[in-house]
Amino acid sequence: MQTLTILGATGSIGRSTLHVVARHPDRYRVFALCAQRRAAELYEQCLRFAPRYAALVDPRAARELADRIAAAGLDTEVLAGPLALAELSAHEEVDTVMAAIVGGAGLAPTIAAARAGKRILLANKESLVMAGEVFLRACREGGATVLPIDSEHNAVFQCLPSDGGARRCPEGVRRIVLTASGGPFRRAPLAQMRDVTPEQACAHPNWSMGRKISVDSATMMNKGLELIEAFHLFGVPAARLDVLVHPQSIVHSLVEYDDGSVLAQMGNPDMRTPIAQALAHPQRIDSGVAPLDLVAIARLEFEAPDAHRFPCLQLAREALAAGGAAPCVLNAANEIAVAAFLGRAIRFTDIAAVTEGVLQAVGSRAAGSGIEEIFAIDEEARALARAHLARCTA
Ligand code: NAD
Ligand code: MG
Repeated sequence: MQTLTILGATGSIGRSTLHVVARHPDRYRVFALCAQRRAAELYEQCLRFAPRYAALVDPRAARELADRIAAAGLDTEVLAGPLALAELSAHEEVDTVMAAIVGGAGLAPTIAAARAGKRILLANKESLVMAGEVFLRACREGGATVLPIDSEHNAVFQCLPSDGGARRCPEGVRRIVLTASGGPFRRAPLAQMRDVTPEQACAHPNWSMGRKISVDSATMMNKGLELIEAFHLFGVPAARLDVLVHPQSIVHSLVEYDDGSVLAQMGNPDMRTPIAQALAHPQRIDSGVAPLDLVAIARLEFEAPDAHRFPCLQLAREALAAGGAAPCVLNAANEIAVAAFLGRAIRFTDIAAVTEGVLQAVGSRAAGSGIEEIFAIDEEARALARAHLARCTA
């Protein structure tokens, strides 16, 4: 029986995780469910999964949840505040932590899981982008293992040879190729891009996801963050990481070997597949995802990404090449810009402009060598990004 803490339980990945867990009550026990502020949704999940703990970052929402839980006579104990999430990730009774908070807010509780030596199912790519080396060092020192949930990285993980757990890029791998759908604006006239609305940007053609990652997919910043994620997870130089646009989202990524073999992992675009793969690894379990029907799909297409259309992808490549604090700055500026776009304060095309402006303003800077330094760089970049928002013309 594996005991689980789910960070970001009310989100898209959190809910998909609970779908898979519900199919296997003999294998998984939910120990803690954590989220930001949606008390009513977390309450419904508590009714269904009866966790020992539930935690909300927002104290008022946590009080509401506690009242509902008391009224229902449930045994779940309710905690409040961000420190509670770190505590529940590191708790001695927990084997596995699903890290599915969106954005930099996921870093602190995910690092806590790393230091405590947990099996980490990593969906929160932003924490690896912000703190790659510091995060991986915490995993090594704490004895934690990381299993990628991001569909591309989960695919690469499955296409690399097994070496008893960790899958670093071995000799003989020529290239790792991450696929990208191209998002909703792959074919949109360039002149219209500045006027697209949050609703249009969040209407992803293949995947149903949270709003932040949906916008990142539309700008292709998501693929840029994923290049940085792959660099850390698989220890492969940036020059051997490529992106391929594949509008059907059936091939989830590819590994090319020196002998010319290319291994790809395929499946329907449904996050329950990588979630079930990581939960059960090295075994396989049913995820509830429909079998892949290649006859019905009939065509798989591939094309090179359009650098002109997707400047954020290039910004991420530059941040990866620059190294140091640049990926952390990129991530922070992008988060502020995306939130402003979703709040209709800036235009879609301003997201790249704000992020580029902040990267230039910060210049080259060493990476933080500890978590406090990383939080300081992150905070500084966010403040700069807020100042840049004022220059945009919404
Ligand atoms: P979402 O917006 O649907 O859910 C986010 C979750 O994080 C919610 O439970 C919310 O309560 C919680 N949260 C938000 N801010 C928080 C804070 N400050 N403190 C604590 N909790 C907070 O997001 P999602 O689509 O599920 O994505 C989650 C993560 O998984 C992201 O890092 C994303 O890049 C990654 N990911 C998602 C998908 C997908 O299909 N949704 C695919 C690959 C990777
Ligand atoms: Mg992905």
